[in-house]
Amino acid sequence: MWFDSHCHPSADAFDDDRASVLERAFASGVAGLLAIGAGWGVAHNPRTLALAESDPRVFAAVGVHPHDAAEADAEARALVERWLGHPRVVALGECGLDYHYMRSAREVQRDALAWQLALARERGLPVSLHVRGEKPDAFAEVLDLWRALGGGSLEGVLHCYTGTLEFAKRALDAGLLVSFSGILTFKRDGGLREIARALPLDRLLVETDAPLLAPEGFRGRRNEPARVADVGRVLAQVRGEPIEEVAAATSRNARRLFRIAEPATA
Ligand SMILES: [Zn+2]
Ligand SMILES: [Zn+2]
Repeated sequence: MWFDSHCHPSADAFDDDRASVLERAFASGVAGLLAIGAGWGVAHNPRTLALAESDPRVFAAVGVHPHDAAEADAEARALVERWLGHPRVVALGECGLDYHYMRSAREVQRDALAWQLALARERGLPVSLHVRGEKPDAFAEVLDLWRALGGGSLEGVLHCYTGTLEFAKRALDAGLLVSFSGILTFKRDGGLREIARALPLDRLLVETDAPLLAPEGFRGRRNEPARVADVGRVLAQVRGEPIEEVAAATSRNARRLFRIAEPATA
């Protein structure tokens, strides 16, 4: 059984067939998933909450994506703070820094992230972090803010990891987990397989980031949570570990991070 630790099933891309997409995921061994409310504007978050209300296997994260950081004015922040109190919310996110696309100014992104990290700490919520861009170094800046604002008590995951092995080790030292997406399955994976092999299994998660990042063989098409198994299969292959073990460990890691009880076994 898999846990898709980061996907966007409330996105418009699923408006025509959302129920069957979720059914396909559950039928193919996805026992639970974290639906991320951030990524399509701050106002999208309540759609994710509504979806999580509709199915006990769908959990919600609420937050402001770095692309949307410029939207995070006082009014938006008050809304996010209210939405975080929803009973289906298990995490804050995704938030972070994206200097690759730089859709919001750097200082604006940093300010929105600092606000959200402080909020996560105050609420005792784990964080789903989005980090992209090397010039300036988004990874180093996220880790600096994480240490400065977390005070050693924040928990979270670097979603869709694309950084270096050296940085992944520093992130693990700071208490973070690392999540692999469909990029791990790409023929040109940018060295990710080597990183996936080197890190301890008890700190790894798998995700689809659906509708984005469809795995090899489906690239350019809409991704969906059922394909988290494709990511997990490659993770098991590169580590030389049984797929059942990788599925169980990554699911256990996700449930521990997001404080979600194991599903009742039939
Ligand atoms: Zn992201
Ligand atoms: Zn995402």
